[in-house]
Amino acid sequence: MSTPEQETAPTSNCFSHIFNLFHFKSSSKPEEEVKKTNSSEVVEAPKVLPFDGKKIVFVLGGPGSGKGTQCDRIVEKFNFYHISVGDLLRNAVEEGSEIGEEIVAIMKEGKMVPMYVTKKLLLAAMEKADDNVPGFLIDGFPRQMDQAEEFERDIGHCTFVLFFDCPHDVLTKRLLKRGETSGRADDNEETIKKRINTFVEASMPVVEHYAKDNRVRKINGDASIEDVTESTLKAFEVDES
Ligand code: UDP
Ligand code: MG
Repeated sequence: MSTPEQETAPTSNCFSHIFNLFHFKSSSKPEEEVKKTNSSEVVEAPKVLPFDGKKIVFVLGGPGSGKGTQCDRIVEKFNFYHISVGDLLRNAVEEGSEIGEEIVAIMKEGKMVPMYVTKKLLLAAMEKADDNVPGFLIDGFPRQMDQAEEFERDIGHCTFVLFFDCPHDVLTKRLLKRGETSGRADDNEETIKKRINTFVEASMPVVEHYAKDNRVRKINGDASIEDVTESTLKAFEVDES
């Protein structure tokens, strides 16, 4: 079996085309700042990241755990800027490029699209936000540890992780139901199993990593939408009210 790192490796050179699709402001480039001390000794200051100063909330949970629905409720109440990384990838597919076919094939296997593709899309989406948004809800990301590390190294600091906990049989039932109308190529029984496996093997270590320094706010996702909303908004109210 391949490791999550191997899964991230580019599967085709055609991903390089995506570089031509985006243009970034120079302010997005992380810069190393250097401070001078009295003794003219040079000391490196902490790296300044493009989205430092904004709250960044990673929204994690198995497929079908309610991330998208609850993000809409948070946006209504707290005006955060919501980015679903799955939607970004699906939109890139709809734009109908050669890479689109590669992305579809990876998503159908419930595997991970290479981080350099995801990162470009994510940065472009974050740059579209108004300067006055209080923060970002990054939904369905990071799905494995190397994505978390790269994001926090180059983009911004994760304030906390909102984690929707839900039994796998409930996830499967919800996704099969959604598959009747969603038109999503990955809402079928075989892909659902693979997505849940990827979640357990690659994404749960991300949740466990952030739990170590108390950055996880865990929500019971196995309840009615209204009840889950109540717990979700409470988890936000801690520092937003
Ligand atoms: N995906 C990915 N990298 C990401 C986020 C998503 O490769 O950072 C792919 C992955 O194949 C995943 C699919 O997009 O299974 C659907 O993700 P989405 O977040 O839409 O699924 P959800 O968990 O909301 O059902
Ligand atoms: Mg979703």
